Amino acid sequence: MIEIDKVSKWYGDFQVLADCSTQVARGDVVVVCGPSGSGKSTLIKTVNGLEPVQQGAIRVDGITVTDRRTDLPKLRAKIGMVFQNFELFPHLSVRENLTLAQIKVLGRAKGEALERGLRYLDRVGLLAHQDKFPSQLSGGQQQRVAIARALAMDPVAMLFDEPTSALDPEMIGEVLDVMVKLAQEGMTMMVVTHEMGFARKVADRIVFMDHGRIVEDTPTEAFFSAPRSERAREFLAKII
Ligand code: ADP
Ligand code: MG
Repeated sequence: MIEIDKVSKWYGDFQVLADCSTQVARGDVVVVCGPSGSGKSTLIKTVNGLEPVQQGAIRVDGITVTDRRTDLPKLRAKIGMVFQNFELFPHLSVRENLTLAQIKVLGRAKGEALERGLRYLDRVGLLAHQDKFPSQLSGGQQQRVAIARALAMDPVAMLFDEPTSALDPEMIGEVLDVMVKLAQEGMTMMVVTHEMGFARKVADRIVFMDHGRIVEDTPTEAFFSAPRSERAREFLAKII
């Protein structure tokens, strides 16, 4: 479903991604981890074309993201993305947040968009909050709305960039529970996270990055029981 093929990217003289290759098969969950500044956010943003690359190719569901002729807004409508800081529209109610892109980007009728939006809002346990504004919700609730909003677009894959790292500890679990359920239902997911309990539970593979390189791309159990690189061993020792 997602193929990253020998991707390199520079900011001026600084190489942020160096010859990165990995794949996410349909229905698989890949967790990306590594030290701060190693290029995780940049890598995940290349998948929906939010970050252009100078070398290599990226394909999602048969569409070449890195082809200049690709209609990126159309492609992005098929890929759900959830960020660290929720990114809900602050001036819109939960209902409006859920329906706006469905109506504007997919051209759905208002009633249909609302019906789908509320179905996903129910799935994340927040149906009762549909008339509230983001500022009236906790961080964990806002992030669950952001996930419901992405799912209402019928994405072929979901990208998550540290979805729980801005949350108070007591709210992390409610967001991870939603993500675990999604993974178990067969969603194709690429998740940047340091929540290693989540990774162990649902990831098929772990990608470990350091200094813009994919240092390891290993089945989950092998990564935790015997990471191959010294750098990954050090990293795990620090965060577990
Ligand atoms: P991570 O998500 O692993 O913490 P990032 O992908 O955000 O890492 O960043 C990787 C490196 O690229 C960091 O050193 C960061 O400072 C640098 N970087 C990120 N965005 C830019 C930018 N727009 N211009 C220059 N350097 C950047
Ligand atoms: Mg990051």
